[in-house]
Amino acid sequence: MQALKIAGYKAGLNALYWSGASRLFAPMARGSGAILMFHQVRPPVPSAFGPNAHLEVTPQFLDAVVRQLQSSDIDIVDLDEARRRLAEPRSARRFVVLTFDDGYRNNYTHAYPILKALGVPFTIYLATGFVDRIAVPWWEVLVDLIDRLPHLRMRVEERDFDLPTESVNQKRVACQLVAAELCHVSEDEQRRAIELAASAYGIDTHGMVEREMLDWDEVRALAVDPLVTIGAHTVGHYALARLDSARARLEMAESRERIEAMTGVRPRHFAYPYGSRPTAAEREFYLAADLGFATAVTTRRGVVDADSRLTALPRISVNGHFQSRHYVDVLLSGVPFSLERRLRNWRRPASSLAPEASAST
Ligand SMILES: [Zn+2]
Repeated sequence: MQALKIAGYKAGLNALYWSGASRLFAPMARGSGAILMFHQVRPPVPSAFGPNAHLEVTPQFLDAVVRQLQSSDIDIVDLDEARRRLAEPRSARRFVVLTFDDGYRNNYTHAYPILKALGVPFTIYLATGFVDRIAVPWWEVLVDLIDRLPHLRMRVEERDFDLPTESVNQKRVACQLVAAELCHVSEDEQRRAIELAASAYGIDTHGMVEREMLDWDEVRALAVDPLVTIGAHTVGHYALARLDSARARLEMAESRERIEAMTGVRPRHFAYPYGSRPTAAEREFYLAADLGFATAVTTRRGVVDADSRLTALPRISVNGHFQSRHYVDVLLSGVPFSLERRLRNWRRPASSLAPEASAST
C-alpha cells in the first residue's frame, strides 16, 4: 500500500514537472519561501525492508540539492532571517531554510561538512533526551527488531502480537501493525512496550542511541559555528498532543533549558515531534508562543508566506524515496500543496495524496 502511494505521488509530481504545470502555476503557489525538512544523511544502507527510507537521503543528494538552490533565484537563510522576511512585503527573491530533525550523528559526520563547504546555514532540532542518552528513538528500535528477527512476539498494553517477520512483506506488515498500535496507546506505554521487547530480544537500546545520535561535544562543536542554529525538539520526543498540558509544556521548556545549559545559546526555535495534525495542534501552538519561541515548525506540508502562523509553520520533507532534483523543484513551486488544499476542500483526505510515515518521526 505504501509502495502504491509512493508510486502514485511520484506520478503526480512527474506529471506536474513534465507538463510544465509546476513552472506555469508556481508564481501563484510558491509563497515567499519554504522550510525543507531532513532527518538522516548517510550513504545508502542496503536493506530491502527499510520502512524509514523516506527519512534519509544520501550525502550526494544533499550536496546536489544545495547546489541546485544556490544556482537558482533562491536564498538559503537561517530561521531568524526567514522570520524577518516573512514580516516584510514579499521580495522577488524566495528563500529556503534547511532543517534537520532529532539530532542524528550523521548530521554532524555527513551533512555538516557539505553544508560548511557550501557555506549555507542550517538548523538542527534536538530532542535532548537522545543526547543525554535517557530517551530512545522507538521507531529505530522497532525497525531493528523486525529487521533482525524471523518472528516477533511482543505485547503492547493489552494486545499481544505474534507475527511472522521472515520475508520483506511480512516485515512490512508487522511494522505497520505494531507501529500503529504503539501510536495508539499512551506515550508511556509505547516506550515501556518497546523497552520490554528490546530487552527480551537482547537489543542494546542504549548502545544504539550512543552510536546513532549526537553527543554534547558534537552539539557544542556545531553550536559555535555561526552557520548552525540549534533548535529545541522536546526532551523525550513524545507526541505532545497526547500528553497533559503541564507535561507538554515541560517537555518544550526543558529541552530549551538543557540546550542553553550545555551550549550557552538559548534556542529561539522549536519543532514539534512528529509534527502532524494529531500530534501538534492549537494547544501546542499556543504553548510554543507562550514559551516565547520565535518560530515553531510542524510537518504539515506546504510553503511559507506572510500569512503563515509563526508557531505552526509548514515544511517540505525531502523524502528519501524522491531523491531526484526535479522533485525538489516541483515541491518548491508550491503547486502540489495548492492542489492538495483544493482536494481537501472537496473533502477528499490529503493522506490519499501524500505518502505518510510508517514508523517514523
Ligand atoms: Zn523528530
